[in-house]
Amino acid sequence: MIVKGCKTYGFETRFGPNWPGQRCLAKTRRGTACQRPAYKHNGRCGLHGGLSTGARTPEGLKRISETNLKHGRMTKDKLAIQRQIAAVSRSLRSEIKRIEKALINAGLMPED
Ligand SMILES: [Zn+2]
Repeated sequence: MIVKGCKTYGFETRFGPNWPGQRCLAKTRRGTACQRPAYKHNGRCGLHGGLSTGARTPEGLKRISETNLKHGRMTKDKLAIQRQIAAVSRSLRSEIKRIEKALINAGLMPED
């Protein structure tokens, strides 16, 4: 904070040299200890603590899955049902074709 005459400019640094909280203290590229404030959960700062590795618990994984689900049209069970329907309709089409051919051969149905 700078004081000029009767006016003060700027703010005091929030994590200045006399800040009483926990420091990161990771080894920096200069070889000194990092002075950034540490997160409580891992004791390191945002630069040295690494990124989140994601949810681990089944509840957390389920919550993420539900968040990312838009309509459920492409879920595994829906795709399996679609594949089953496609297989049934394929077999029905081939069966109809076989019956038509048999009727045409027997002369019971015109060829067109
Ligand atoms: Zn750090």
